[in-house]
Amino acid sequence: MAKFLTPDKIRTEYGLEIREKILPDGSAYKPNRLLLHRKPEYVTIHNTADINEAPGTNDAEQYARATHNGAMGGVSVHYYIDETDCWQLLSEYEMGYHAADGNTGPGNGTSIAIEIIMDGSGSKEDTEAEDRGALLAAILLHRHGLTIDRLKTHRDWYPKKYCPAYILPHWDKFRLKVMDYKDAIEHPGDVDRDGKVTTKDARLTLRAAIGLENLKRVQRVAADVNRNNKVDVDDAHLILQKCIGRKDG
Ligand SMILES: [Zn+2]
Repeated sequence: MAKFLTPDKIRTEYGLEIREKILPDGSAYKPNRLLLHRKPEYVTIHNTADINEAPGTNDAEQYARATHNGAMGGVSVHYYIDETDCWQLLSEYEMGYHAADGNTGPGNGTSIAIEIIMDGSGSKEDTEAEDRGALLAAILLHRHGLTIDRLKTHRDWYPKKYCPAYILPHWDKFRLKVMDYKDAIEHPGDVDRDGKVTTKDARLTLRAAIGLENLKRVQRVAADVNRNNKVDVDDAHLILQKCIGRKDG
């Protein structure tokens, strides 16, 4: 039986669980260089294909493990994400090899890479992986103070490569989804996504908290005002305060 990769740390951001297993410094499987300006300036989206999964694991773990075992042919990316798992392999401040533009090109040199593992079938798993990838992209843009124009495709850096192959046909839609997540992160409370925080949002949150409503992922991000990675009655209370313009209880 395969020995699966063990994360060094597990963190959850905006409901997204991320398993960290950073390639050690000096590893032959990463560039061991900081990003050119010592901070991320772009987020690059890639697609890589769904692979057959060994029992008990998933695609993201298999890609992460292959990277750690030197089986990725020199490719190193910051994040692999699929419909259930997300693994981080590089610090957000160091370079990976993913954009085919060398050590000084802007793709490798200035961006954080996300490999979204898909098969393009449009199946539930496929769209779920894409949706989770959009949230991760929004989290990274937000963390590093980057605007949506800093969201790039692999093809933007290297036109000969049609990547992300499964997302490029509807790139504008994906981009809007990332914008929606970024807005939900930056302006929480607007659960019904109509552009304003009202008592309707508080009601929706309360219904979700007691199990009467199934929110979409972007709605959960917007509803989780206290950022404890769940939608609870406290969030509904905070949203109600927000929409009636009061800060105290
Ligand atoms: Zn790519």
